[in-house]
Amino acid sequence: MERELIQTAHAAGIPLPPLQARIQGRVILPGDPAYDPSRQSWNLSADPRPAMIVMAQNTADVAEAARYAGQAHLELAVQSTGHGFYRSAEGSLLIVTSRMKTIRIDREARTAWIGAGAKWGEVLAKTQAVGLAPLLGSSPDVGVVGYTLGGGLGWLGRKYGLAADSVLRFELVTANGQLLYASADEHSDLFWGLRGGGGSLGIVTGMEIRLYPVTTVYGGTLFYPVQAAGEVFARYRDWIAAAPDELTSSIVLMNFPPIPLVPENLRGQSFVMVRGCWCGPIEQGRTLVQPWRAWRAPLIDDFKEMPFSQVGAISDEPVDPLPVFTTGAWMRALPDDAVEALIRHCVQGPSPVLFAEVRHAGGAIARVPSGAAAFGNRDAALLLLLLGLTPTPEAHAALVGHCQRIMAALRPHLTGGVYLNFLEGEEARQRVKDAYTPEAYARLMQLKGAYDPHHRLRSGFVHREE
Ligand SMILES: Cc1cc2nc3c(=O)[nH]c(=O)nc-3n(C[C@H](O)[C@H](O)[C@H](O)COP(=O)(O)OP(=O)(O)OC[C@H]3O[C@@H](n4cnc5c(N)ncnc54)[C@H](O)[C@@H]3O)c2cc1C
Repeated sequence: MERELIQTAHAAGIPLPPLQARIQGRVILPGDPAYDPSRQSWNLSADPRPAMIVMAQNTADVAEAARYAGQAHLELAVQSTGHGFYRSAEGSLLIVTSRMKTIRIDREARTAWIGAGAKWGEVLAKTQAVGLAPLLGSSPDVGVVGYTLGGGLGWLGRKYGLAADSVLRFELVTANGQLLYASADEHSDLFWGLRGGGGSLGIVTGMEIRLYPVTTVYGGTLFYPVQAAGEVFARYRDWIAAAPDELTSSIVLMNFPPIPLVPENLRGQSFVMVRGCWCGPIEQGRTLVQPWRAWRAPLIDDFKEMPFSQVGAISDEPVDPLPVFTTGAWMRALPDDAVEALIRHCVQGPSPVLFAEVRHAGGAIARVPSGAAAFGNRDAALLLLLLGLTPTPEAHAALVGHCQRIMAALRPHLTGGVYLNFLEGEEARQRVKDAYTPEAYARLMQLKGAYDPHHRLRSGFVHREE
């Protein structure tokens, strides 16, 4: 393939030396035994066949690869872990950043420099070792940069805000191979767009983020019988209405699949679960959870004082690759008829939805002024996420249809906004405008035109109108 490209380029008079000789990482073409493992995503539903894969070792490799793609007229895509996909990398030059794992911590300044291939779990371990915490999400297996570019809503969100709001500086390579830095003082327009714009404007090779003094939290999950779901939702509504920002929480309807991977006491059963993470004084956290215990003893109660390094245990999300479909929407409120619709569609009778989670946002996320970064919908405090397994195209189609029916039933209670980190594929492309204010979307399109005029970088949220 590369040889063909080079011959074509030579015929057109373009000098195009082989890329491999110019980079420290690896160029992988279809047919290479490393091709399939290198293009594999965490979400097995994504199965693109890039024309060429570049396993980048460093920023210079990314820049060479981007320039090469321009010369060879290939579109560009980026992947680190493959937890999210918005536009297929089919036929493109896919830059895989997973080897770029630099993590440098400045304990005094409470900041860290993170390379584009680092996962949250790796950053969490190193920052906790010096008594500091990053703003990771529910799964430590997710990539730091991809998560942050989309916003990044995690267990410290209501206290310390979105991960995107804690970025101090980005290093990035534009689609034409130029190295730039974006911060409040340099390329501030790009800095604005990268915080919520989802990697549409360049290939981020590293970023400097703020860290926070959190080492111990009171967190976990309360499991209740699914038959009590209506009452648990009503109590949850009151609980979060009075919750201080130190509490970030969610309520979940969960159908554990009947597979050996699931512990025997949960296998094949449904529950309603209250999850949370309190980052204030531990005794206050215990007091906050007490009314649940006093109301009704949970079937399982693992809310406890825990080192923040173990925060991934609250949601305990799978690490091994899976075929999944996710969708979501911002909700206005959670009145009884919305709760009734969620229960009916998600846990009454067989449902292809594995879990339905409503996360409580707001707090510090909502206190950042709307125009401060590209990220939109800050004023909505409830975020719905639906997820199911999609082992076959038929299962995928059935799940998508089912989720559309759920969203239709909930429509009066949805704000109309979406959080693109929780969407994927075709739906993410169709709903991209609903993630931003009209002004922010127009500004992002303007930035896209300025920094990627040929729209060659295709893996981000914002692209030319399709
Ligand atoms: C199990 C699971 C749990 C999750 N939990 C949360 C959560 O708690 N909170 C939350 O907010 N989100 C969560 N997400 C969503 C997640 O943040 C997004 O899917 C995110 O895009 C994943 O980033 P990644 O780098 O791991 O994945 P990838 O699939 O590698 O990247 C996703 C996209 O990010 C962009 N991107 C990645 N790296 C770069 C780069 N270096 N430069 C430019 N663009 C880049 C590209 O557009 C790419 O297509 C979760 C997802 C899963 C599957």
